[in-house]
Amino acid sequence: MIDIDDCEYCNRCGAPLGFVETAFDNGRHKATTVTRLLAERCGLPAYLAYYTKTDDGDDISSFRVAELFPQRTFPSAMTPEEYCRKLQRLRDEHFCPGTLFAGVREERVRRGL
Ligand SMILES: [Zn+2]
Repeated sequence: MIDIDDCEYCNRCGAPLGFVETAFDNGRHKATTVTRLLAERCGLPAYLAYYTKTDDGDDISSFRVAELFPQRTFPSAMTPEEYCRKLQRLRDEHFCPGTLFAGVREERVRRGL
């Protein structure tokens, strides 16, 4: 059994958008076979994100991110902001069926229905 560290999803419709395995960047290899195969079966992207903490240990200072599916890439350095934008792109590129009814839903909420 494995755990999936992160499943990015749409907060409107609940659709899963991608998987991320995370690991502290201690120079060791992180196994990702099951995550990559799961992503392939789901047709969703998957990434491996190694992170480094700040000196005080309270935050993350940098990432090294590899794509696992649909392509396989070597890890490349990213700032936290770049990593955040990468994950945000999953949401931006998602065509959400929830937006089709968003106006109706917001009107119902406004009316208290
Ligand atoms: Zn959606």
